[in-house]
Amino acid sequence: MGKFRENIIQPILDCWSLMVGLKITGKYFCKPLITVHYPREVIDDENLETYGGHVELIGKPKDPATPKCISCMMCVTNCPSKCLKVVKQKAPKPTPEQEAAMAAAKEAGEKVVKPKAPKNPAKFTYDYTLCSLCGNCIDNCPPKSLKFSNNMYWVATSRKEMNIDLLARLKEQATELSAPAPKTEAKPATAEKEA
Ligand code: SF4
Ligand code: SF4
Repeated sequence: MGKFRENIIQPILDCWSLMVGLKITGKYFCKPLITVHYPREVIDDENLETYGGHVELIGKPKDPATPKCISCMMCVTNCPSKCLKVVKQKAPKPTPEQEAAMAAAKEAGEKVVKPKAPKNPAKFTYDYTLCSLCGNCIDNCPPKSLKFSNNMYWVATSRKEMNIDLLARLKEQATELSAPAPKTEAKPATAEKEA
């Protein structure tokens, strides 16, 4: 029985496995290419939208350089890799007028209202070398201030460069948005394939 299985059954099973593999290869061999010849071609915007790169901040609709972030620390708490660092802003020093109003309120036995710290963070850094792209930070952000970037062509030459200042990146993006679009020689891949 052992020899029968070894000499007859097993070769048939191996051939069947080969046929299944060849069927899948043949199916994809006949389909149009879905890769692009970078840098002569670039990924079109539609496909870039579905790319999940590093984590980045989302700006306010009316002020894209300022994040929607309210420094609640939910992302920091829920990050399993400890790759996010958020520093809250401190409350501003009261102006002489505010100090006088606070003193008057205290003297009258009323509630003293101190200047409040702005909600958006003072610092927001992210270590891409530690990130597992699990999405916990994005899912747990109450004001939806985080997303995966579609920064497909971003490269770094050192680990230090991969520790990203997300506030600085948001400001750069806001500046780029307000600047006229640069001319590029590379064509979107789909445009070339359609031609
Ligand atoms: S995607 Fe996951 S690992 Fe990366 S920063 Fe967010 S919570 Fe942390
Ligand atoms: S990014 Fe979102 S979860 Fe993280 S501190 Fe800001 S508001 Fe909170």
